[in-house]
Amino acid sequence: MNFNKKYDAIVIGAGPAGSAFAYYASRAGLSVLLVEKQREVAHTVLCAEGVSSELLKLLGNESFTRNFIATYVYGGILTHNGKRIVEVSLSEPGGAILERKIFDRYLAERAVLAGSDIAVNTKFVGAERKGDEVEVQLITGERKVQLLTPLLVGADGPASKVAKTLGIFDPYDKNDDFFAYQVYAYCDGIKDNYLYFGIGEHIAPLGYAWIFPKGGGFANVGVGIPGKRENLDKYLNNFLEKHCESFKILGITHGVVPTGFHKRRIFDDNVLILGDAARLADPLTGGGIANAYISGMTAAKAAEKAKKEKDFSKRVLKTYYRELRKWILHDYMVTLFAKLFYHSLSSEELEEFMNSIRDAIGKMEITPPINPLSMLMKIVKKDPMFLLRFGRKGIYAAKESLREFI
Ligand SMILES: Cc1cc2nc3c(=O)[nH]c(=O)nc-3n(C[C@H](O)[C@H](O)[C@H](O)COP(=O)(O)OP(=O)(O)OC[C@H]3O[C@@H](n4cnc5c(N)ncnc54)[C@H](O)[C@@H]3O)c2cc1C
Repeated sequence: MNFNKKYDAIVIGAGPAGSAFAYYASRAGLSVLLVEKQREVAHTVLCAEGVSSELLKLLGNESFTRNFIATYVYGGILTHNGKRIVEVSLSEPGGAILERKIFDRYLAERAVLAGSDIAVNTKFVGAERKGDEVEVQLITGERKVQLLTPLLVGADGPASKVAKTLGIFDPYDKNDDFFAYQVYAYCDGIKDNYLYFGIGEHIAPLGYAWIFPKGGGFANVGVGIPGKRENLDKYLNNFLEKHCESFKILGITHGVVPTGFHKRRIFDDNVLILGDAARLADPLTGGGIANAYISGMTAAKAAEKAKKEKDFSKRVLKTYYRELRKWILHDYMVTLFAKLFYHSLSSEELEEFMNSIRDAIGKMEITPPINPLSMLMKIVKKDPMFLLRFGRKGIYAAKESLREFI
């Protein structure tokens, strides 16, 4: 790294969002400095490590030589208050459980090989606008440094200091924060290639619990509930007791997954906000790795355009938001709808809804991707009154998700 150099872009945070941006921007000819406060990239990572096969496709074949996949996913089991609702088995992998530390390091290495400079043990502490540039203030080891750049990229995770310092938005929002508590555990009796999801008021009111297996009976087991941080450990214990014949806990983590990016402006003059910093995690599941990666990729395109036009104002940088929406809009809208629908049901209605699914589907074998519409058709065929009972809530959720987005 060279603190005397003038970089086209300074990126704060070497998680999936920051490293993806650094890689694509360096490949496009920008000079990039990637800044990470931890002593090494991915020293501490909070994650259940599940990703869809779409992200794996995006990464391309070359990445698979890097051993960052712990297990492939060949099925899933959904339970409601401990009662089995549906079991789906897949004819080909629908996703994978990563080794996040290896994955994040791979993404940072790839950025470095593409030409990015990197400064670890270096903390972003503030920024000030200076004409049509930004002065970025860092502390590296014991030393304070100030660097001028036309583009500051905030990929600094849920508590984004970049967004806060420059007054773009307040990174905290209880309504859209997903609080998660997770253990790494040996869970006797689980299938190594299956995901387990649990819902219901005794397991995770308005949220869900998960088991994401990593092989040999070991798994990330967690619970995430929107807007609620109390008693997460108790809910998790309940879920563990219902799903594991016996269990042994090897590690505990907790953290926040920020959602609700669509309510904020995630770009400004000389600034782009990515990944968790931009609250891009999925509104229903809290999964954020894929969207973080895609935000890095699309933001790099906007940065390339800005460099070409010698204009880093929001007029040019807004292409980031436009491009990002194209990539993620469909899935995001579907899960926003599903979340609003789920939250609109009382516990009795949820139980009734789950029973209808269990009676119609129960157990099925499919070839990915999973098609929610064909599942709905199956349920309606078995239970013609289903739409009448839940259609009104469905229309409400559809209207609300559109209203939130527009
Ligand atoms: C318990 C839990 C389970 C999860 N499970 C899943 C899952 O199964 N699948 C999924 O897709 N997503 C999951 N997520 C979400 C996922 O981990 C995040 O969405 C993803 O890490 C976002 O990537 P990012 O690059 O935006 O941010 P991060 O990965 O948080 O990276 C931000 C980086 O910025 C650095 N940083 C922060 N502040 C500064 C500063 N001031 N100066 C310099 N560097 C700084 C941090 O050290 C960090 O390295 C989970 C989250 C939690 C909490």
